[in-house]
Amino acid sequence: VTCVSTTAHIALGSNLGDRRAILTDALAQIARLPATAVVSVSAFIETKPVGPGPQGDYLNAAAELLTDLNAAELLAALLAIERSHGRDRAREQRWGARRLDLDLLLFGDVVIDAPGLTVPHPRMHERAFVLEPLASIAPNAVHPRLGISVAAMAGVVVHAAV
Ligand code: ATP
Ligand code: CA
Ligand code: CA
Repeated sequence: VTCVSTTAHIALGSNLGDRRAILTDALAQIARLPATAVVSVSAFIETKPVGPGPQGDYLNAAAELLTDLNAAELLAALLAIERSHGRDRAREQRWGARRLDLDLLLFGDVVIDAPGLTVPHPRMHERAFVLEPLASIAPNAVHPRLGISVAAMAGVVVHAAV
């Protein structure tokens, strides 16, 4: 069996419930995934919600993982952790309030366009609430479609067709 470890970056967000406890718990769950280590975690930052209706401020963070899972397996595991925190997509509005949102931002230099999985995350480059924490832990990670670093993306608002 050949194991190929990949450095992956994820975004974490919560704007319902005990946000800090939820993010901390989710990180502990991620650290317990098979063949997966949490390498570093950003500070938790408070951000204004982008989405419909009045909703509470978010607590956002980014984390760097090292994993032998593939991208689809990692996303499936992240979605299961969301569900374990009571998230039910069928009952929520797009970009509405949620206890836990886990997005797969980067998976090494892998590019995927599958029905349930787009990597890099298609909106990461236009979101300060993603780029600011990510730049604090992985400034040199490169977006494989845009060919620019996270630090560069965080320093300018990228308007690019990808
Ligand atoms: P956004 O994607 O704009 O951040 P969101 O996080 O609120 O919005 P969700 O409802 O959490 O969107 O996710 C919708 C679907 O996106 C999920 O069911 C998941 O299968 C799919 N998806 C595709 N690519 C990714 C990715 N890279 N990370 C997370 N989810 C993804
Ligand atoms: Ca999201
Ligand atoms: Ca999501």
